[in-house]
Amino acid sequence: MEGLAGLESQYLMHTFRRQPVNLTRGSGCWVYDEDGKEYLDMVGGIAVNALGHGHPTLTQAITEQASDLIHVSNLYYSRPQVELARRLVELAFPSRVFFANSGAEANEAAIKLARKWGRLNRAGAFEIITAIDSFHGRTLATVTAGGKDAYSAPFGPLPGGFVHVPFNDLDAVKAATTASTAAIMIEPILGEVGVIPAAAGYLAGLRRWCDEANLLLILDEVQTGMGRTGRWFAHQHAGITPDVMTLAKALGGGVPIGACLANPRADVFEPGDHGSTFGGNPLACRTALAVIEVIESEGLIGHAAEMGELLAESLGSLELGTVRGLGLMQALVLDQPHAKEVQAAALDAGLIVNAVTERTLRFVPPLVINPAQIDQATRVLKAVAG
Ligand code: PLP
Repeated sequence: MEGLAGLESQYLMHTFRRQPVNLTRGSGCWVYDEDGKEYLDMVGGIAVNALGHGHPTLTQAITEQASDLIHVSNLYYSRPQVELARRLVELAFPSRVFFANSGAEANEAAIKLARKWGRLNRAGAFEIITAIDSFHGRTLATVTAGGKDAYSAPFGPLPGGFVHVPFNDLDAVKAATTASTAAIMIEPILGEVGVIPAAAGYLAGLRRWCDEANLLLILDEVQTGMGRTGRWFAHQHAGITPDVMTLAKALGGGVPIGACLANPRADVFEPGDHGSTFGGNPLACRTALAVIEVIESEGLIGHAAEMGELLAESLGSLELGTVRGLGLMQALVLDQPHAKEVQAAALDAGLIVNAVTERTLRFVPPLVINPAQIDQATRVLKAVAG
């Protein structure tokens, strides 16, 4: 770390509050700092490194594709892009895909789709109902869509057309629906405010309401997607399909990629409506294909469900607070408002966890985590917070 924090402060905009560690290498669920100190990674790049660090299949796919072709413009055909779209559609629901580079961009595509759809199908309706305390990204539209004032207030005037209602309150959605409403955009589990899952029946209720009122249902599965909750996509637990779904984070296992899937009802983009220079380039798509291949070949969906139960049980056994979540997306809500102190003490003790609020620790480890590692994480937490 010698001098690094000072240089960071001098040369990088002050947008992040960083933990005092310089990570230089990783293997599986372990990461190492510049002095070789080992850390158990229960954050996984915030739900990104689904296969852990340095997975050989991923490394090989990246290396091979990089030596063949890293990038071509979307002016031309590209087989990895088409193959990835096909795999995602097979895993999700009949749809077509637009590729972007991040979660925020995938959501921007969804927002633009909803607006055009409303123009064509609901007499110019353009409003999107979202949840208070939700998170959809940091672009101007997505920060407005997310219902957290602190993230959007300094940047006004904000784009219009977003209406915020309490999460898990179907009646509030119905009451907020007007002739101007085009879509409802929801995370199946609120991630950034501390892992708050949709209540039983909420997603199915939203689906029914969207059918009844002729609205689009957009599910932001940027954090919940790609197996984290024990199904490929979290909405599959609820037995429904959205009209539009967005993905990013784990999709590329660490290589930036985002995707927006839209069913035939919602897929109203025509040539010229939307685009991206990098979105869906061969490197990102070949990598994402390898991520899917490994999730399947290593049975990581079932493993995530199993390890998620074990993690929830282990965290609960600490008796430090309450546990909530689904699969390998869990939170420990501490009885004391000392999550930041616990995060710092855990880091010192070689465990990476994420304090998302004063009381809440979030756990979104690689899907390849094993019982011994969960046990180790629990023991460290007990030592530093017990
Ligand atoms: N949507 C959800 C649910 C997220 O959790 C995030 C990031 O945390 C985003 C969107 C934004 O993704 P990105 O940071 O890749 O733009």
